[in-house]
Order: sequence, then C-alpha cells, then structure tokens
Amino acid sequence: CGIVGYIGSKEAVSVLVGGLEKLEYRGYDSAGVAIPGEDGIEVIKKEGRLTVLKDRLNGQSYSANVGIGHTRWATHGKPSDENAHPHTDCTGKFAVVHNGIIENYLNLKDWLQWQGHTFASQTDTEVLPHLIEHFYDGDLVEAVLKAVSKLEGSYAMVVVSSHEPNKLVAVRQDSPLVIGLGDGEYFLASDIPAFLNYTRHTYVLNDGEVAVLETGQINIMDKNCNPVNKDVFEVNWEA
Ligand code: GLU
Repeated sequence: CGIVGYIGSKEAVSVLVGGLEKLEYRGYDSAGVAIPGEDGIEVIKKEGRLTVLKDRLNGQSYSANVGIGHTRWATHGKPSDENAHPHTDCTGKFAVVHNGIIENYLNLKDWLQWQGHTFASQTDTEVLPHLIEHFYDGDLVEAVLKAVSKLEGSYAMVVVSSHEPNKLVAVRQDSPLVIGLGDGEYFLASDIPAFLNYTRHTYVLNDGEVAVLETGQINIMDKNCNPVNKDVFEVNWEA
C-alpha cells in the first residue's frame, strides 16, 4: 500500500521508517524494511502497526545507507509476518517491495516452483524476487526488465540486491511512484509527503519507466533501456 526507498549517506532504516510514518494515512496491516548486507539482504518485517516494527528495530543500529520499506494492505495472503513485505528470493540476495496486484502470479509461481524455487508466503508479490533471481546474470536492471516483461497486473515496485548493493531499481505500471531528488541522495515513495522533510524536487515516474538510483546518480529509462529526460516537478505546497 505504501512504498519507500532511500539511497544516500544517511542511515537508511531511520529515513525509511520516517517515510512510512508519513504514509500511514493510506492504511495498512503490516510493515517492513530491507537493507543489503555483505552476505545477503537483511529483512525486518512485522504484522501490525508501524509501532510493532519500530519496537522490533528499537535499540539496534543499522549502518546501511541504502534500503527499501513497505506498508502492506493485503490483497493476496492474509496479514502475517511471512506475508509482509519486503519479499526475498531463495538465495536471500534480492528483495522487493510492491504495491498493486500481479494478476498472473499463480502461473508464474507454478513455473518457478517447477524450476525449483520454494516460496515462503501466500502473496502474489513473492513471484517478483524469484523471477528477478531467475533472470539475474550480472545486471540487475536487465533482470528486473525481463521479470517485468512476464507480468500482468498493476505494480509499483522497488528492488534491491546484495549483488549490486549500491543501487535501487524502481518500475511502475498503474500504481503511483515518485522520486525525491536530494543533494547526492534519492528518495522513492508512493506519495510525496514521505520525503518532503528532505526535498521538494521530484520526478514523477510514468507507466513503463524504469528508474535506476545510485549514490549521486539517477537514470530514467523506458522498457527498451532508452534514456528518458524528465522534468523536475517542484512541490510548492505544505505537507
Ligand atoms: N498484492 C500485494 C500483497 O497482497 C501488495 C498489496 C499492497 O499494495 O500493499 O501483498
């Protein structure tokens, strides 16, 4: 229901949780964050209100400067810790947050299970990290684009991988996603208030566009990897 992402020099987890707080008005049943580490992705996710996740995070310090976060409004799979986002693949090296519905997820899940993938949740979303892992051959953007070409339905999603830990890849189709342009840092969110404390300069992602965020560098492309020139939208209202 609500997506956030961050890449820059701040401590990602606290920026992500702050962003999710600003999206609370959208309603949700569970919340979680994921950050890339040396050996894989670390995921912390909990059914319930954001305070449940915050209690779980309390007292720990996370040094990661890159991460993704989510508040879920369940459509496929009941509200539970397992069904909360972010979702990962079997290797634990790819994590995805997703808003929307993958209409053909049962077909994709059957096919992935036949390929040897095991699933940890009942969600439609979990096919995404497994598909990306299946297509990954050293280039995260390419793997995400191949996975997206198999999808029917609506999605805004953000992907992080410990194979390429200083990168976020975001795509959307029929679900909102905006990018906040900071000074050497970038924010991703379903809605602008999530990052308005940090920047008023934004790119509004259109259907079919892919955003690749790296520290101090952003590229927007179409599905064929052609660069897209975006106009900066400046927010002039108060949150
Ligand atoms: N369909 C996904 C799920 O049920 C995403 C729901 C959402 O947009 O929060 O997990």
